[in-house]
Amino acid sequence: MTAPVPAVPDARRILIRLRDGAALSEAELRWFAAGLASGEVSDEQAGAFAMGVLLKGLGEGGRVALTMAMRDSGQVLEWDLPGPAVDKHSTGGIGDATSFLLAPALAACGAHVPMISGRGLGHTGGTLDKFEAIPGLATEVSTDRLRAMVRDLGCAIVSASGDIAPADKRLYAVRDVTGTVESIDLITASILSKKLSAGLDALVLDVKAGSGAFLPGAGAARALAAALVGTANGAGCRTAALITDMGQPLARAAGNAVEMAVVMETLTGGPRDARLWAASVALGAEALVLAGLAADAGAGARAVEAALASGRAAEIFGRMVAGLGGPRDFLEAWARHLPGAPVVRPVPAPEGVVTAVDGRALGMAVVDLGGGRRRAGAAIDPAVGLSGLALIGEAVGRGRPLGHVHAATEGAAEAAIAAVRAAYAVGPEAAPGPLVIERVGA
Ligand code: URA
Repeated sequence: MTAPVPAVPDARRILIRLRDGAALSEAELRWFAAGLASGEVSDEQAGAFAMGVLLKGLGEGGRVALTMAMRDSGQVLEWDLPGPAVDKHSTGGIGDATSFLLAPALAACGAHVPMISGRGLGHTGGTLDKFEAIPGLATEVSTDRLRAMVRDLGCAIVSASGDIAPADKRLYAVRDVTGTVESIDLITASILSKKLSAGLDALVLDVKAGSGAFLPGAGAARALAAALVGTANGAGCRTAALITDMGQPLARAAGNAVEMAVVMETLTGGPRDARLWAASVALGAEALVLAGLAADAGAGARAVEAALASGRAAEIFGRMVAGLGGPRDFLEAWARHLPGAPVVRPVPAPEGVVTAVDGRALGMAVVDLGGGRRRAGAAIDPAVGLSGLALIGEAVGRGRPLGHVHAATEGAAEAAIAAVRAAYAVGPEAAPGPLVIERVGA
C-alpha cells in the first residue's frame, strides 16, 4: 500500500510516495517545484526525486502538472500583441541553425516570436553561442527589451532571464550529475517549462533522431515527441512536432561563426544550404498553421519560402542583430564581421560516396576545437568549427574533401582532421533518407 497524500506536503513524504509507485498529486508536484526554486528542497532530495521519476514515471497527468508547476516557479510572460506568439524548439543537434531563418521568416508572416534559446552543452551546438559569434551582439536582455523587440520587429532570439523556470535550472543541474537526464517525463517538463514561460499561443517542436541527436533512436524520438506534444497541448499551447533526421549535420557547417556564415549566405540570396532551408520551411509551415496564420502546411510553406526568398526575413534579421548590439551593416558586410580561424585545412577523403556520418563525433570534434563546452559556463572560441561538410550520398575523394577544419592551431587542426575522417563512412553507394521522418500532432 502506498502512503496517503499528506495534508501538508513535505519533500520526504513526497519522495516516499514516489518510491512506492503512488501517482503524485498536482499539489505535491507544485510544492516540490516551488521547493526546488526556493531552496527548501535539498540537493539530495532533488536527486532522489529525479531518480524516482526516471524509474517510476509520472504518468501523463503528473507530467503535465510538473511542467506547469516548473513553469510557474518563475516569471510567465503575457502578451498584448496584434498577432499570435509563436516559437520553435529543437531538441538539439549538429549544424542546426534553423532558428536564424525561422524567427525572422515567421515574423515576416505576421507571427510574434519570443525565441528564448539555450547554449550548447555536450556534443550539440547552442543557438545563443552561434548568435554571439557576431561581434558586439549580446543575447542577455531585460524582459522589457524582449517585449519591445517582439512588438516592434516581430522576433527576438535571446537568453532566458534568471527568473524563467528557476525550478528547472536547479533540477537540470542535479540531473546532470545523477544519471537522470534521460527521463522522458523530466526532459518534457524541463523543455516545456521554459518554452511555456514565454506565454506562447503555438509551438512547433523539432525532435531529432539519428547519430547526432540527444536521444538517437527513432523509438525514443517518437516517445519524446508524443510526450512533448501531449503535454504542451494539455497546457493550452497549440503544439505539433516534426521528427527530423539528425543522422548527419543539418547544415554543411558545425560551429559558431561558420554556421552563421551559412545562415547569412542562405538568407541573403547566396548559395542556399538545401537541408537548412528545407527544415526551416517545414517547421515554419507547421508553426503558421498552428498559429492560425496559414490554412494548411502547403500554404504555410509557400509563405515561409516567400519570406526567405524575398529578403524580408533577411531585413528583419539585420534589424534584430542591430537591436542586440551587433553591427548595423551586418546584412551587407557579414563576411567582414564574422571572426575567422587562423588555420583552415581540408579533410582528405577516400574515393567513394558518403554512406554514414557519426553526428555525435562531429559535434565532439567541434567541442575539442574549442567551439563547444565540456562544462556549463566555460568560454568558447567562436571562430573554430567545420565547414563544407559532405552529406550522405555525395561523391568524395580527390578534389572533394569531407569538409574543412577551422582551428586555432595546427595541432588542433590535425586532431580535428583525424576526428572528422573517423566520423565518416565512405563506400560504393548510398541514398540519403528523408529529412522529415514523421509528424506528431495533437
Ligand atoms: N533540453 C532541456 O532543456 N532539458 C532537457 O532535459 C533536455 C534537453
